[in-house]
Amino acid sequence: VHDLARTFDVSAPWLNRVLERKPRQLLHAVDGVSFEIARGQTLALVGESGCGKSTVARLLVGLYAPTRGQVRFDGQDVHATLATRQARALRRRMQMIFQDPYASLNPRWRVQDIVAEPLREHGLVRDRAALRERVAELLRAVGLSPHDMTKYPHQFSGGQRQRISIARALATQPQFLVCDEPTSALDVSVQAQVLNLMKDLQRQHGLTYLFISHNLAVVRHVSDQVGVMYLGRLVELADKRTLFAQPRHPYTRMLLEAIPKLHAIGQARTPVQGEVPNPLNPPGGCAFHPRCPHADARCKAERPALQTIGGVRVACHAVQEGRI
Ligand code: SF4
Ligand code: MG
Repeated sequence: VHDLARTFDVSAPWLNRVLERKPRQLLHAVDGVSFEIARGQTLALVGESGCGKSTVARLLVGLYAPTRGQVRFDGQDVHATLATRQARALRRRMQMIFQDPYASLNPRWRVQDIVAEPLREHGLVRDRAALRERVAELLRAVGLSPHDMTKYPHQFSGGQRQRISIARALATQPQFLVCDEPTSALDVSVQAQVLNLMKDLQRQHGLTYLFISHNLAVVRHVSDQVGVMYLGRLVELADKRTLFAQPRHPYTRMLLEAIPKLHAIGQARTPVQGEVPNPLNPPGGCAFHPRCPHADARCKAERPALQTIGGVRVACHAVQEGRI
């Protein structure tokens, strides 16, 4: 991913009719985001809601077109390829899993049809018998019984429904899965089961994941690399061990302090301080400065660039100046 940016025109139509001049109100959902994910690894993107994580996810699989920048998958420019005859082959290799399996599974379809849809769409099975056999195999792979294939989504629990989504995503034998908050709608105990399933599948099939979560405890469990986003920008990118042991960016530190510690259950925990500013009107300079305990005059005036310091990429004047 190189210098990815995406804006959305969010001007209200009624406002445009009332005013003679059409003011365009642009939301910079993602701005200048760059990272790489090595094959077979998991990069997690974390940040509070509205920070642009889901937009990055959709840009990566081609659901959104970028305003600027490039996404390369195995050497191929994703957005250029999607306009060509190779698009189908590329789509087969990248799949997406969404947060809410209620919304992403058609309630009127039986599980067999849900899981079979990508197989049919990509012409991956010869006949009905082969289709049934493949659907059964996919259901077994995600820990469901093939006997359940004639049931409907509402007959399953939330965790089982997410397993159905995973089976559907695996149907085309993808190499890269973009998982947008895949366990956030589930109970904590069920979350762990689904995360473990995803890790097992990764090992078995050599899958590469982009894993999106607002929950650092979940990220710690699944990731190799962690990217922290704030108001559309990457503010820190580090390998997991380093990020959790030695967070550099003040926002990363704030997020880490807000994770409940096992030994401190029942005690008050440090809440994430302050509100995320309106993304339509982000603060100047470093966008984090109104919430940052280390902000100074330079922070208010000048946006820090992402720089590599001690093997970690971080966008913070105070870190770059050695103040913190
Ligand atoms: Fe805080 Fe300044 Fe660093 Fe921004 S650049 S995170 S305001 S110290
Ligand atoms: Mg989201």
